[in-house]
Amino acid sequence: MADKEIIKCSFCDKDKQDTNVLIAGINAHICDSCIDQAIGIVEAEKSGKDASELSEHFKLLKPKEIKIHLDKHVIGQDAAKKVLAVAVYNHYKRLMQPLKKEQEVEIEKSNIIMAGETGTGKTLLARTIAKMLNVPFCIADATVLTEAGYVGEDVESILSRLLQVADYDVKAAERGIVFIDEIDKIARKNDNPSITRDVSGEGVQQAMLKLLEGSVVNVPPQGGRKHPEQKMIAVNTANILFICGGAFDGIDSRIGSRLNTQAIGYKKSTDKTIDKQDILQYVAPQDLKSFGLIPELIGRMPILTYLKPLDKKALRAILTKPKNAIIKQYEKLFEMDGITLSFDEQALNLIVEKAIEYKLGARGLRSICEAIMLDAMFDIPSDENKKEKLNISLSYAQEKLNKVSLKKLKAA
Ligand code: ADP
Repeated sequence: MADKEIIKCSFCDKDKQDTNVLIAGINAHICDSCIDQAIGIVEAEKSGKDASELSEHFKLLKPKEIKIHLDKHVIGQDAAKKVLAVAVYNHYKRLMQPLKKEQEVEIEKSNIIMAGETGTGKTLLARTIAKMLNVPFCIADATVLTEAGYVGEDVESILSRLLQVADYDVKAAERGIVFIDEIDKIARKNDNPSITRDVSGEGVQQAMLKLLEGSVVNVPPQGGRKHPEQKMIAVNTANILFICGGAFDGIDSRIGSRLNTQAIGYKKSTDKTIDKQDILQYVAPQDLKSFGLIPELIGRMPILTYLKPLDKKALRAILTKPKNAIIKQYEKLFEMDGITLSFDEQALNLIVEKAIEYKLGARGLRSICEAIMLDAMFDIPSDENKKEKLNISLSYAQEKLNKVSLKKLKAA
C-alpha cells in the first residue's frame, strides 16, 4: 500500500494537522496563519499606496501656513483658525501615513465642533479649508435629519451629498470634509429622554454616532430615503473629517453658571480673568452636554472651538479685506463692463452700521450692498453714454437704501 501523502502548507511547511484550515490550490496549499499574514502584507501595501497617492494628490501645508491661508479669506477668529489649522494638519498627516500593522500608536481621528453665532464664519472656515486641500466638501443641515424611519432625511443622506460632489469617486469622498450646520438644533429637547420619542433630537444624535466614528456606512447614492431597489454604496467614514457648527443660543448662561460654581473659593482671581462680554471662549464639553448633546456625540468631536461675534471693525474688514470680499466682487463685475467702481469710506461705514442696526451680521452685508447696487447694475450695462467711473457716495447709498424696505433686507 502506497504511503499516504502528507499535506502541508506550501508557504510555511506546516502539517495539515497543525493548522486550523488548509486551503488547497491547483498545485499548492495555504494555511490560515499564512492567509492572515498575506492579508496583512496586502493591506500594508495598499495603505502605503493610498498614502503615497494622497501625497501626490495634495501638498499638506503646515499649521502656520494653513492659518496664513485662512487669514486671506476669513477675518478675525484667530482662536478658531489656530485650532482648525492644527486639527486639519494632524488629520491629513494621519491619512498620509502608511498603516503599519505593528504600529504601536494609532492616531485617532479628531472631528471638530465650533460654537459661534450665526454669520460669524463657521461655514466659511470649513469651506476655505476644503478648497485649500482640494478635497470633496459638502454642507449638511442637521435640522432636516431625523432618526431612520421617520419623515425627514436619514443621516446617511449626508454622505450621499459628499459622494455627489466627489463625482461618485468613493476614495475621494472617503477623505473629504463634511460640515454639519446647526448641530445645536438636534440637542435633546428635555432632560428626561424617556418621556417622548425625540426623533429629531437625541435619535438623530444616536444615528450620527456611526458616521462620526470610523465605520462603513451604506449610502443611498441619490440621497433621500432608502429605497429597497436603490443599490447602496459602502463608504468608510474613518478618514472623513466632520466639522460641526452651531450657534448654541443660550449656552452663555450655562458657561457662566459653571464658571461661577467653579469660582467658589477662587473668586478674586477668576473674576478678574473672566471676560463676560465674550463668554463663549470658555466653552467646554460639559456645557455642550448641559445644552443637550449626548456625551457619546461630544466624545466623537474631541476638538471644540468658538467663534467671536463680529464687531464693527470686523464687519468693515469683511467688506473689503478678504480675497473674495464683497466690494472686490462688485468692482470686478463693473470692471467687466469697463467701469471703475469706487466707494466712499462713509458709504462703507453706512453698510456696516445698517448690518449692525438690522442685526444682520456679516450675512447682511451682501443684501445691503445688493440693495445699493441694484439700480446701477440694472441701468449701466445698456447705457449708451456710460461713464468710465462710478463712485458710491454716502448720499447715493442712503438714497438707494431708503427705497428698500427693512423687511426685505431682513428676509435676505
Ligand atoms: P456661519 O456658518 O457662522 O453661520 P458663514 O460662514 O456662512 O456663517 O458666514 C456667512 C457669510 O458672512 C459668509 O459667506 C461670509 O461672506 C461672511 N462672513 C462671516 N464671517 C466672516 C469672517 N469672519 N470673515 C469673512 N467673511 C465672513
